[in-house]
Amino acid sequence: MKKIVLGCIADDFTGATDLANNLVRAGMRVVQAMGVPEQPLDTDADAVVVALKSRTLPVDDAIAQSLDALRWLQAQGAQQIYFKYCSTFDSTAQGNIGPVAEALMEALAADFTIATPAFPDNQRTVFKGHLFVGDVLLNESGMQNHPLTPMMDANLVRVLQAQCRRKVGLIDYKVVAQGEAAIRARIDELRAQGVGLAIVDAVSNDDLLRLGPALKGMPLVTAGSGVAIGLPANFGIAPSSTASALPPAAGLQAVISGSCSLATNRQVAAFVQAGRPALGIDALQIAAGVDVAQQALAWAGPLLSQGPVLIYSTADPAAIKSVQGQLGVEEAGALVERTLAAIARGLVALGVRQLVVAGGETSGACVQALGITQMKIGPQIDPGVPWCHAQTDAAPGGGLHLTLKSGNFGADDFFGKAFAMLT
Ligand code: ADP
Repeated sequence: MKKIVLGCIADDFTGATDLANNLVRAGMRVVQAMGVPEQPLDTDADAVVVALKSRTLPVDDAIAQSLDALRWLQAQGAQQIYFKYCSTFDSTAQGNIGPVAEALMEALAADFTIATPAFPDNQRTVFKGHLFVGDVLLNESGMQNHPLTPMMDANLVRVLQAQCRRKVGLIDYKVVAQGEAAIRARIDELRAQGVGLAIVDAVSNDDLLRLGPALKGMPLVTAGSGVAIGLPANFGIAPSSTASALPPAAGLQAVISGSCSLATNRQVAAFVQAGRPALGIDALQIAAGVDVAQQALAWAGPLLSQGPVLIYSTADPAAIKSVQGQLGVEEAGALVERTLAAIARGLVALGVRQLVVAGGETSGACVQALGITQMKIGPQIDPGVPWCHAQTDAAPGGGLHLTLKSGNFGADDFFGKAFAMLT
């Protein structure tokens, strides 16, 4: 059986890719699984990231899914478990970060773990236990208005304590600055005080790299994706280009965009301005019963041999509001997601083997429609967004190269840049 060293459980889909990307850059060969796999891992990898959608589930469901993931990862040989959550510590007063962390601790018979969402590359830093997003505290960053997980307090010791039965402590920046021995001494001290979980300060990648060695042998680590940069070295793994190697790319190229985020709007405009063929689809037409997917595929068919095409529902906020006003927010979203997923399937049936998908929810719908359950993580295109490769019956033979771009990630020329990288 193929054995992994690091087993990761991510509480959402694009967060899983973000973590996988950091591990690959630090030298690990990584597979991302959509949900808990039913079969043992059948490829060589150093780490698997199991992507759950557990961030806002009821606490008991989040725990049950996380424990399922844990059991599967242990069966694949994982020596250390990494519970990955958002770098803005997205959670409610009930959880799910604290309860899931404690359930994993119990299952692993671990009496201590760390917790830090620090991700300095992405402007998330933790200082004296307080989380900063850019220059402002978490609760002034806009996250105080999040519809599902409003973050009203930047003091993570307090936030996590409210979710935990065990005592929560702090490993502050002065300790982290002194490196492994000091961090280990502080952990021993906290343990002696009966502390089970400690928030760790980190304001730079150097802090995270100093923290890494102190986590060697800790059964459970809980963090955003930042801590990942310091872990592969503990397993004797160093950065190398082979970690991100994917099979050679072939086949036709296409972009599907269902994201309406600012960055995606710019990326769609840049693709159109570059003179590439692009087709917008209209949610109202879908609602009126027009077979928009069939029309889009008929449009794309003759163009694909000449280079990448783009099919998008991306629109500006005013247009979206108007459509949502007529169809309802959820209905509009679901109609568009279903149609784009059908188009993704149709494009792959037409021979597309290099697919860019923009939008987190859109990616979920497309991946599901394509029957993809596992992806090997490849080289980074832009921060947080790597190329991936998946085997699926929908793309017989060499499988499919795909990249799943969450809304606000990527430079303006992301689409063109992505294909240029594969060729
Ligand atoms: P992001 O990562 O930018 O948040 P998502 O794909 O997660 O992108 O979310 C975008 C949501 O907006 C999806 O549910 C999608 O179906 C919906 N959507 C996309 N285009 C339109 C549109 N033109 N009208 C209404 N809803 C849309």
